[in-house]
Amino acid sequence: MNTIDRNASIAVIGAGSVGIAVAYYLVTQHKATNVVLVDPRDPMSLTSAQSGENYRNWWPHPVMTAFTDHSIDLMEAIDRESGGMLNMTRGGYALVTRRDKPQDLIDDLYRGYGAGSAQIRIRESASCDYEPPLRAPWQSAPAGVDVLLNRDLIRATFPYYASDVGAVIHVRRAGSISAQQLGQYMLTRIRAEGARVVRAEVKGISGSSPFRLEVATAEGTSSLHADVVVNAAGPYLQDIGAMLGEEIPVKHIYQQKISFQDREHAIDRKMPFTIDLDEQRLTWSVEDAALLASDPQTRRLVGPMQGSIHCRPDGPVDGNWIKLGWAYNKDASDPHGEDPLDPHFPDTVLRGASNLHPKLAAYIGRLPRGARHYGGYYTMTDENWPLIGKMKTPGAFIAGALSGYGSMAACSTGALCAAWVFGQEVPQYAMQLTMDRYQDDVLKAELAKLGGGCL
Ligand SMILES: Cc1cc2nc3c(=O)[nH]c(=O)nc-3n(C[C@H](O)[C@H](O)[C@H](O)COP(=O)(O)OP(=O)(O)OC[C@H]3O[C@@H](n4cnc5c(N)ncnc54)[C@H](O)[C@@H]3O)c2cc1C
Repeated sequence: MNTIDRNASIAVIGAGSVGIAVAYYLVTQHKATNVVLVDPRDPMSLTSAQSGENYRNWWPHPVMTAFTDHSIDLMEAIDRESGGMLNMTRGGYALVTRRDKPQDLIDDLYRGYGAGSAQIRIRESASCDYEPPLRAPWQSAPAGVDVLLNRDLIRATFPYYASDVGAVIHVRRAGSISAQQLGQYMLTRIRAEGARVVRAEVKGISGSSPFRLEVATAEGTSSLHADVVVNAAGPYLQDIGAMLGEEIPVKHIYQQKISFQDREHAIDRKMPFTIDLDEQRLTWSVEDAALLASDPQTRRLVGPMQGSIHCRPDGPVDGNWIKLGWAYNKDASDPHGEDPLDPHFPDTVLRGASNLHPKLAAYIGRLPRGARHYGGYYTMTDENWPLIGKMKTPGAFIAGALSGYGSMAACSTGALCAAWVFGQEVPQYAMQLTMDRYQDDVLKAELAKLGGGCL
């Protein structure tokens, strides 16, 4: 056993988007010294490498809207100061339904944005001054939300959608970022401020502040002493929690995507990130339907399928890659096991997506060579809100459970967690992202009504 003891003021466990952002705000905002980021993997190589790299400020509750608005503010500041390293685009999110005037969705918008926090513009006439989707720099993109209820306006703006679309909700503060570039930028700044990135796995934690972390490196096992530990271990948050004798209320749901070169030009390069909100039944041949129905693993594919299939052009306007995802899996699994990659997923998502994007049907059963099918864990609480703040153990903090929104929310998570470590004031909304929310029965009842869910 290697007995080289090392000391740190703060050990951040996990160098994904979240741990890196915590370390970044610790050193840049609070001038923390002797910070160590510990991870046995390459930084940003686990869940953070699987991200679709989309962002939006659209949520069913104002707390999450405030949380992501804060993060987008911070990302825009970094994009500005780094000379555009984040490659931020802001074409918005287009939420599409076949229904006319979906009042429940419009009510959800008002509830999610809270009083006056976003301009919601209802567009009922074909001749309104609605600005069509843009891939222009985020600085010149509009804010607020446009709700398009006129079928002629929809047809003229989105001629590539299926012709039965009845309403489009266009969320404008939304688009794509390069989360990998954001992580690289932060790592460079972290190192420049003197923090260390150590390739090691935390195997055990003993004592109380200062903690003794048992860490496994390529050379053997050694100890690291730290006054503060931050649990940013992504899908392994519970392992670190257990080392501190605490239970972390999260589950792990594997979600998948495909990406490929769109040689058939099925997707318009200027299309915003588009979500088909409508439930649907997939079309199968009689034989396929019987086969799928006979297996408990695949039976759900022949029943009603939830909405929320998403699709977007990937990379530059003159490129030809596209990405598709559908977070229909609801079954939790163990992130220590084999990744439960579903071989039916590419076919399923293409069948579902071709309802709204008819030309995608050309790829069903014929994905182009070089296509990628990949996935990762949404580590999430039942209500799908993150955990950011103090753990029960004095000196221990948590930044995690960022489900399918950890790339877009890494910056606010990092800034909040760093403020908690330094005992500094946090914005009002952040109080409800701590573990203390489980003591608030009124909030718990409100969140139970909203029902979690993920994109
Ligand atoms: C398919 C998919 C699509 C997604 N799309 C989007 C999107 O479009 N937009 C968006 O905002 N988000 C998206 N997300 C979510 C986002 O990717 C995650 O929320 C985010 O990457 C989580 O980051 P993390 O740092 O918490 O976890 P991770 O990236 O998993 O990092 C955790 C790190 O902790 C380390 N670790 C664990 N245990 C230990 C230990 N004992 N000792 C030391 N280190 C340890 C691991 O090695 C790992 O590197 C998507 C996720 C998936 C799976």
